[in-house]
Amino acid sequence: MQLQQHISHPIFKLISESAADLGVEAYVIGGYVRDCILDRNTKDIDVVSTGKGIELAQSVAKRLGGAKISVFKRFGTAMINHKDLEVEFVGARKESYSEDSRKPAVEDGTIKDDQDRRDFTINAMAISLNAKTWGELVDPFNGVEDLKKGILKTPLEPAKTYSDDPLRMMRAIRFATQLDFQIEDDSFQAIYRHRERISIVSQERITDELNKIILAKVPSKGFKLLFNTGLLHLVFPKMAELFGVDIVNGKAHKDNFYHTLQVLDNISENTDNLWLRWAAIMHDIEKPITKRFHPKVGWTFHGHEDRGSRVVPEVFRDLKLPLNEKMKYVQKLVLLHLRPISLVQDVVTDSAVRRLLFEAGEDVDDLMTLCEADVTSKNDDRVKRYMKNFEIVRQKMKEVEGKDHVRNWQPPLSGEEIMQAFGIRPCREVGTIKDAIKDAIMDGKIENNRTAAINFMVEKGNELGLKVVEPLQPNS
Ligand code: ATP
Repeated sequence: MQLQQHISHPIFKLISESAADLGVEAYVIGGYVRDCILDRNTKDIDVVSTGKGIELAQSVAKRLGGAKISVFKRFGTAMINHKDLEVEFVGARKESYSEDSRKPAVEDGTIKDDQDRRDFTINAMAISLNAKTWGELVDPFNGVEDLKKGILKTPLEPAKTYSDDPLRMMRAIRFATQLDFQIEDDSFQAIYRHRERISIVSQERITDELNKIILAKVPSKGFKLLFNTGLLHLVFPKMAELFGVDIVNGKAHKDNFYHTLQVLDNISENTDNLWLRWAAIMHDIEKPITKRFHPKVGWTFHGHEDRGSRVVPEVFRDLKLPLNEKMKYVQKLVLLHLRPISLVQDVVTDSAVRRLLFEAGEDVDDLMTLCEADVTSKNDDRVKRYMKNFEIVRQKMKEVEGKDHVRNWQPPLSGEEIMQAFGIRPCREVGTIKDAIKDAIMDGKIENNRTAAINFMVEKGNELGLKVVEPLQPNS
């Protein structure tokens, strides 16, 4: 197979010339080759040479007129960043693994040795950058055929490949999800058998792969594979616990694992926001723990949104996800995910809408996206009815927000001002008055402005036995 068209960028000629000068062979290898053949966009280029990887990079950087180069002596690699390209250079290597680490002992090797140590046949293809064989595909494991058939398969024996470096199990599932490929049966069995080996992989690497699965077009595919290989029980047990259906008195609840996956797929059609996708994953995470059967009403999951929101930090910590505003965002959406549904019922008061707008703040649209994704009924009429109801809720929110502007609500009076007005020091009454002002505004008892808040503060203070010593100015 001739692939000259994929190496038409001038940098490949420079690499070729530098390699010839140094007396080594050079190939572009791995993900770049795979993605070119698949017509996927790709910028990261991996170059492997038969020795002298770092010198090759230095020589290329020089030819580029002093491009930015980073050398990692310890790993024998070097990276050139040139315009929007990132090219990594490494000498071909042969690897041998020990039981307790995914970091192999490395020695110099041939290009074939280097291809042997790759994870999948589709990731082991190389294109020659050498004058005599310029543009020829070097594909010892018939990766092109597997690309065509959509198959993930290891170059060497699967059991050894996965056991040597168990991160490859996560990578197999990630590629299967991103590319919508099948994992070959022997590979699948090997992953299942060696799943416990995942324990030697760092949580950061596992979570990186998990996030890539979540960001795929149809993430459920990856989670089903994780579940069926038993990996999910090891890397994210709480999610695996969602699986299963109980039946009491002939009444079953829905399987929360498959429901969650459906919600995740639904939301993925509408957003690339990783954290909104995480909110979909977490929205029912505490259903198993709150599950009850009542002979009269059937299955209930009371409080699962509150418990779910509170368990988010634990899950994020275990998975080494960020414990910052992203986590708080997921917590907020999990906590509020039933609220818009409650607004659907019967007569909706402005007050309830105002409170939700206030609590959801900036994230109210994302909350609505989550709620709509949460509709997984197979009954078309029901789905239509729910969607229409959400449309009504959105409309209602728009009206209330247009009137009252509570979405980015800030208290009109600060605690400092309340203390100043009544001449008091920090005490419980300050909080009581602040909350009372907020409630009065949310419930529509007073208008959402400073003057109304000051009048209300005086009234409330009097009730609590406080007297104004320094009146507040309406427009400060
Ligand atoms: P992506 O950029 O989507 O992550 P990629 O295949 O380029 O895909 P990298 O992690 O950049 O992924 O790896 C580059 C190449 O290195 C792969 O194509 C593969 O040949 C090889 N490789 C990466 N990780 C492993 C591994 N754990 N075991 C064996 N080979 C690997």
